[in-house]
Amino acid sequence: MAYQLPPLPYPYDALEPYIDAETMRLHHDKHHQAYIDAVNKAIEPYPQFANIIIEDLLRHLNDVPEEIRTTVRNNGGGHANHQFFWKVIGPPNGGRPAGALAESITRDFGSFDAFQSQFTDAATKHFGSGWAFLVVDPPTKKLEIMTTPNQDSVLLHGKPGLLACDVWEHSYYLKYQNRRPEYLKAWWNVVNWPVVSSRYEHFLEGKQQL
Ligand code: MN
Repeated sequence: MAYQLPPLPYPYDALEPYIDAETMRLHHDKHHQAYIDAVNKAIEPYPQFANIIIEDLLRHLNDVPEEIRTTVRNNGGGHANHQFFWKVIGPPNGGRPAGALAESITRDFGSFDAFQSQFTDAATKHFGSGWAFLVVDPPTKKLEIMTTPNQDSVLLHGKPGLLACDVWEHSYYLKYQNRRPEYLKAWWNVVNWPVVSSRYEHFLEGKQQL
C-alpha cells in the first residue's frame, strides 16, 4: 500500500498567530504531499517495500536498492520528517517540558533556557534548507541537538527524535520572509511539550516510535 498523507491533527489556523493558516495549508497539503508522491513513485516497482513503514526504510536505507536510495532518503525523509513535525507542534498552550524530559534537559544542557538558546542557535545558523532536532543518543542516553541538511532524517543516524523544527523557507517565508530568527522565536510557542515528553518516556521504556 502506498504511503498516504496523514491528516493534520488540528485545524490549519490552530497555530495562529505564530504560524499562519496559509503556510500550514501549503506546507501540509502541497509540500508534504509532494514528498509522499515522489517516494511512492520510487518504490512502486518494489513490492517488497509495500508494507514497510517509512521510518523503517530510513533506518535501513542501505538495504534499499541503489537506484532509488537517494529518492527514498530525500522524499521518504521528507515524508517522515513532516509526519514527525506535525505531531510535536500544536495549538499554543504555554507548556514546558515536564517529568523525566525536564530533568534530563537540565542534566544535559544545564537548564531549559540554555537548551532553548542552544537549539535556537543551531536552527538559526544551519545553512540552507534542513532541520533542527532534539534527539537521544542511544548508547549514552544523553540528549543532543543536531541539525540535518535537506530532508535527512535523524533515523539515518540511528538517533530517535524527540522534537523537530523545520527550517526550510517554505515553513516560514509567507509570514516571516527571510527572517528565520523571528520564525524560530514564534515557533517555540507551538511546541507540544506533552507529546515531546511522552516520546522521551517511550524511549526510556524501550519502545520504538515513529
Ligand atoms: Mn517542510
